[in-house]
Formats: sequence, C-alpha cells, structure tokens
Amino acid sequence: MNETLLLTKVAQLYRELDRQISQWHTCRACGRCCDFDTFGHRLYLTPPELLYFAHHAGRPLKPMTEGICPYRVEGRCSVYPYRFVGCRIFQCNGSEAAQSDLTEAALKRLKQCCTRHHIPYRYMDLKTALNSL
Ligand code: SF4
Ligand code: SF4
Repeated sequence: MNETLLLTKVAQLYRELDRQISQWHTCRACGRCCDFDTFGHRLYLTPPELLYFAHHAGRPLKPMTEGICPYRVEGRCSVYPYRFVGCRIFQCNGSEAAQSDLTEAALKRLKQCCTRHHIPYRYMDLKTALNSL
C-alpha cells in the first residue's frame, strides 16, 4: 500500500464532496446526529476513510462505547476536517436522493482505492471501525 497516495486520494475526494455539499446549505453542524441512538441515525465507513482519519486524528483512536461518536466534544465535532464521507453527506433536512447519489459515487471511488492499494473493502459501522484499529 502506498499510504501517501491513498491519503492524497481521500483528501481529493473530500475536497470535491465539500464543494458539492456546500451548495446545499442545510446542515447547521449542530452535532445532534452524532448521537446516533437518540437521533436514530447510523454512520458507515470504509478502510480508506478510517486510515485517513487515523493519520490526522492520531492513534490510538477513541473507542466507541455508547451510541455517541466519541469525537463529538461539547456537542460539536472535534475532528471536523477529517470527518468521514457519511458525516459530510448526511443532511437531516436535505434531499435523500441527492445524498444517495453522492454516497454511491463516493463509495465507488473508495472501492477503487481499496482495489488499487490492495486493502480489503469493508463497509463498517462507526463503532466497529473505531474499535478495529
Ligand atoms: S445533519 Fe442535521 S442534525 Fe446533523 S449536524 Fe447537520 S443540522 Fe445537525
Ligand atoms: S466524526 Fe464528527 S461529524 Fe462524524 S460522527 Fe463523529 S463527531 Fe459527528
């Protein structure tokens, strides 16, 4: 695995996503959906996202013991620049169809990333992912 190239590809994907999502203007970054159990929401992610996250947020990762993302601090995301694809795309008041299209396109690229860098592709819930490194 060429980690530098992998991290560059994920950063590029995030930049493009942020540019597309910035046109939606629906998320207030209130952090309520990061309390998954209360909000009734789930977050799934892939190995390239997790590697990018660990590289920037630092290891060891915080374990997830409850239904709340451990990186939500005082109600806000403490790792906002490194947050996952699902964190970027999910908009509680946005178009589900638009979010679905963007997610499918992002997952396709992340799968290609896995293939290219010989990483097994997985689609993990946040708790499994954070507890796996
Ligand atoms: S998607 Fe909704 S609940 Fe989640 S942070 Fe944005 S405004 Fe808050
Ligand atoms: S990484 Fe940030 S945006 Fe994503 S679930 Fe955790 S606190 Fe929320």
